[in-house]
Amino acid sequence: MQTLYRKYRAANFDQLIGQDHIVKIIKQSIIENRISHAYLFTGPRGTGKTSLARLLAKVLNCKDISPAGEPCNKCSSCNAINKGNFMDLIEIDAASNRGIEEIRDLKEKINFLPVEGKKKVYIIDEVHMMTTEAFNALLKTLEEPPQNVIFILATTEPHKLPLTIISRTQRFDFKQADNKSLNQKLKYIIDSEGFSIDEGALELIIRAGQGSFRDAETVLEKVLSSVDNGKNSKTITRSNIENILSFVSIEVVRNFIEALIANDLNRSLEVLHKVWEDGMNLFQFTKEVLDEVRVQLLKKVINPGANNQNKKLIMIIKEMNQASNEMKNNMLNILPVEIAIFNIVSDELPINKETKGITARNSVIKSEVPKDINPKITQEVKKEVKEVIPDKKQEKVIEEKIEDKKVIIQKDNSNIEEQFKKIKENWSEILIKVREFNHFLTAILTSAKLDIKEGEIVFSVNSTFHKKRLDNVETKKILQKIIQELTGENIDFQCIIQKVDLKNDSAMNNEKMVEDIFN
Ligand SMILES: [Zn+2]
Repeated sequence: MQTLYRKYRAANFDQLIGQDHIVKIIKQSIIENRISHAYLFTGPRGTGKTSLARLLAKVLNCKDISPAGEPCNKCSSCNAINKGNFMDLIEIDAASNRGIEEIRDLKEKINFLPVEGKKKVYIIDEVHMMTTEAFNALLKTLEEPPQNVIFILATTEPHKLPLTIISRTQRFDFKQADNKSLNQKLKYIIDSEGFSIDEGALELIIRAGQGSFRDAETVLEKVLSSVDNGKNSKTITRSNIENILSFVSIEVVRNFIEALIANDLNRSLEVLHKVWEDGMNLFQFTKEVLDEVRVQLLKKVINPGANNQNKKLIMIIKEMNQASNEMKNNMLNILPVEIAIFNIVSDELPINKETKGITARNSVIKSEVPKDINPKITQEVKKEVKEVIPDKKQEKVIEEKIEDKKVIIQKDNSNIEEQFKKIKENWSEILIKVREFNHFLTAILTSAKLDIKEGEIVFSVNSTFHKKRLDNVETKKILQKIIQELTGENIDFQCIIQKVDLKNDSAMNNEKMVEDIFN
């Protein structure tokens, strides 16, 4: 089957979308008959370099060029080129073995006259892949160009070409396809194939194409072949595309970003876990988030006013970018995103210092996951991670229980040392009990350090975010209640922010706890 990219390749200059700045100059040079003997087409993949090279070969050999400088697409040369069997158009892929041989032969064959057309045209694609030997051969040819031979060199990496080659060519830099051009081209193809499409759906294909006509058309092809499955509907909807490409819907992405901006840890974790459980590709999800934040940030820069959000948006970009990089090397690819969320949501302190506890905690978890991780373990870890979200219902029940028993907390500073000792002795039990109520609180406690400061029992935590959670009245009640049950002591405690070195705090046995919690 002919690919869409080939099928809808521009047949004349006007059909070549998105490179107007180049097309204009080339058409003018055709009209004025000022032809170079060597061209260099550079630019990202899928932007029309070889399409334009073929067009140029066609118009140079056309027997009936229009006054506007367009090929006729009717004469024998035009037809042969359109069918791909024109003897005087030689296409060489410099990246292939065959290409290397072809360039070696080039010197001998180059002086033969064109067989059926006016000009012999060599298109050398991926020219930066040529060997030094091949470059030297090519350079000789370019220095003394034979009559009626035209070279068109195409490359995505012009910086790898010798300057001696570049200086002997007329260079054109192709732009990445902009959204307007992609929109125009895709709409044309969709129309021609007898389909219709929602704007939202088209936007997704454009996004997936990332500035490349070829990539966007490949995505479209996938979509068309799955939508056109004998059913009557020939309308492509956004959800079609989301399903086919495993995209997360834009509403979900925006909801996630809103939650991050609002520092809403629970909501952002909920969204992430839902995406994960639905089997969506997390790498794709972070990419979608990055895309959307970038768009929002650009809008804010262009249209200032709510400037205070910019810092947050930039932070989301930084953290999510890092998460997507780390995902590849992580067995549990949700972890980097979770860490990113923690970092973003608790950003009042400098990132690196305050999140040390979390990072340490997660690296412990990571190291506890066996290398040849089996699906069952993943499943269990997944379940546990999910349970990290505090259960509001559960908290309410606990609150009621506490109310029932009317626990009265009395501050008793006379015996602080004794209380401290008891808490330490029972620490593991305390954490296990806390875990029954609230996994997330356990996670915070495992990264906290217990101490006595100025006659008071204190928890040192790494971030204001953790402090807020521990200082919460209900949370405090739960913890005090548990400590009272296990030690018989009514104690009060304070929460302070201080860098916590988990490794040196073996008395708290945190690593063991993390292991228990997550395994
Ligand atoms: Zn023609």
